[in-house]
Amino acid sequence: MGGGRAGMRQIPKAGEIRDVHAGCMHLLAWIIHARACRLAHLVARITYEGSQSPSRDGSFLLGRITVSTGNQSVNHLIDEFSKLPGIGKKSAERLAYHVLRVHANEALALADAIRHVKENVRHCRDCYNLAEGELCDICQDPQRDRTLLCVVEQPRDLMSIEQASAYRGLYHVLLGRIAPLESIGPEDLTIDALVNRVQAGSFRELIMATNPTIEGDGTALHISSLLGETDVEITRLARGLTTGSVLEFANREMVADALTGRQRF
Ligand SMILES: [Zn+2]
Repeated sequence: MGGGRAGMRQIPKAGEIRDVHAGCMHLLAWIIHARACRLAHLVARITYEGSQSPSRDGSFLLGRITVSTGNQSVNHLIDEFSKLPGIGKKSAERLAYHVLRVHANEALALADAIRHVKENVRHCRDCYNLAEGELCDICQDPQRDRTLLCVVEQPRDLMSIEQASAYRGLYHVLLGRIAPLESIGPEDLTIDALVNRVQAGSFRELIMATNPTIEGDGTALHISSLLGETDVEITRLARGLTTGSVLEFANREMVADALTGRQRF
């Protein structure tokens, strides 16, 4: 009977329960203290400030958090990358560490490409596309139809049309669009050169390929009013539903444009 009693679970007395309870509270307090210390340590490493500029001590601010790379050259590279369009601090940091990781030849090839572009690329004398000589490749191409002229806002718009491989005429790059709110007027673009070109040239059609925005449309309207006296036919790119799109997901402007510009089947 005695062995059986020893195997049974004994009911703790009231004093023992208080001791266990106090022990648990002590353990809990210790855990909270340890976590508070870790948090305090983390806060000590992270300084909340307002700027995102690199500081003199080799640290940069990530949002409102200062992170130190410990190297001013690397911080400078990160800062330069972060000036690129669409590149935030995190992406700039990844690019900088990629440059550090790759072979020196690969990294310097990037630097050389940037230097070469800045030293050699200019605007074409006739169309204002990017060129390395006086004239761009398109203006020099004898296979191009010199009776067609496509007006675009930027060289990158020209590249988009070229990639479609559906146009073999010449271009005129405006180098922007009329934007009164940004104080960009006709005199800031290459509109005068375009008018002179059309009046002096033998173009039969001028295709307005400015962006389908209020400013792009306003720019096209301004140009067409300047060329109203010429015999050149002025057209604009079709707009409305894009190929492969679904009516259900098209916005109102797209559907309205598609209905206005509908074609015979
Ligand atoms: Zn050109």
